[in-house]
Amino acid sequence: MRKKTVRDVNLDGKKVLLRADFNVPMSDGEITDDNRIKMELPNIEYILAQNAKLIVCSHLGKVKTEEDKNGKSLEKVAKRLSELLHKEVKFINKTRGKELESAIIEMKPAEIIMFENTRFEKGETTNESELGEYWASLADIFVNDAFGTAHREHASNVGISKHLETVSGFLMEKEIKFLSQVEKSEKPLVAILGGAKVSDKIKVIENLIDKADKIIIGGGMMFTFLKSKGYEIGNSIVEDEKLELAKSIIQKAKKANVELILPVDVVVANEFKNDASIIKTVEVDKIPSDMMGLDIGEKTILEFRKAISDAKTIIWNGPMGVFEMPNFAKGTISMCQMIAALKQTTSIIGGGDSAAAALSTDYSDAFTHISTGGGASLEFLEGKKLPGIESISNL
Ligand code: ADP
Ligand code: MG
Repeated sequence: MRKKTVRDVNLDGKKVLLRADFNVPMSDGEITDDNRIKMELPNIEYILAQNAKLIVCSHLGKVKTEEDKNGKSLEKVAKRLSELLHKEVKFINKTRGKELESAIIEMKPAEIIMFENTRFEKGETTNESELGEYWASLADIFVNDAFGTAHREHASNVGISKHLETVSGFLMEKEIKFLSQVEKSEKPLVAILGGAKVSDKIKVIENLIDKADKIIIGGGMMFTFLKSKGYEIGNSIVEDEKLELAKSIIQKAKKANVELILPVDVVVANEFKNDASIIKTVEVDKIPSDMMGLDIGEKTILEFRKAISDAKTIIWNGPMGVFEMPNFAKGTISMCQMIAALKQTTSIIGGGDSAAAALSTDYSDAFTHISTGGGASLEFLEGKKLPGIESISNL
């Protein structure tokens, strides 16, 4: 089932409400990374080129109290967008009311206005129906391009969609297209799973176990698997209450004829620090009791390379080690490098930290798709239906 996109509807002269994801990082009231604004430009330029009147909204940060509103205005975002577009972006520092409504009435085709942070409205995160209905009343058509919030049922995505024809923007379209390949992937499909905890990833594992031909396990979660098999794991991160679960996953994989591949060696350190005084690589059955595993080792990297070499599709969620510390980033970077070398393979990486890790390497361009949706990509990989996607009209 295909979802309608901005290309499937006539936008000429229409009032178009765009839900963008302009939740950019800010520090001292300044935008520290404008990538999210830049990524949205092609979609905005397309809409304006159709001669539409464009009304843009987004959330910014977490807003629970009145105080939280300090420093969370979208005004700086509107200014930055204006600079990038070389075009005036009129900012209305309200989320509703006369001023906003009059500004919209006065708009001419190909003009653009942005209103204030959607989370300044209490009813946004509770998806109060009156709020969604109100925002919908401002426009003729709704473009939802905020994949990052697709796992949430908020007024500014699902709420508006209840009252207005909804299509996806370019970014949402791309996310849906690539993440859907989990379901209809070319085989062999190799899933690479890492990250901190098994408990964060259990649903992803369960969803992929029926679909993947091989599952590679790295990251912090490998130690719960190793311990469940009886290995000494020292001070490595572990979830003792998940040992039985790890065992059952190993069993399930066996039954489903899925190859579950665990590391054979690990980089250990005596403390959780980049410049720990002792850092060395040991076999998985020789982890000293006073050390912790923080990355996969060289032999493991070679094993993993073999395992992915014939993959037609690779789905990756969760870094292989503590990649934020350069001394424990090698496993994750090597994985990126090895995947980049597989030119015929569809490679999709998702998850907040995983995407950040991939983007920080020289190999980010080689991935077929890096899903920047954080929680939304994770829930997609769990096989869940996301309300923000469900509410987009089908073609
Ligand atoms: P994502 O955000 O992509 O879903 P996670 O949040 O599950 O990924 O995992 C990322 C975190 O896992 C990183 O902060 C990383 O430092 C941590 N991590 C990876 N390997 C280890 C390890 N061996 N020990 C402790 N933490 C780890
Ligand atoms: Mg994370």
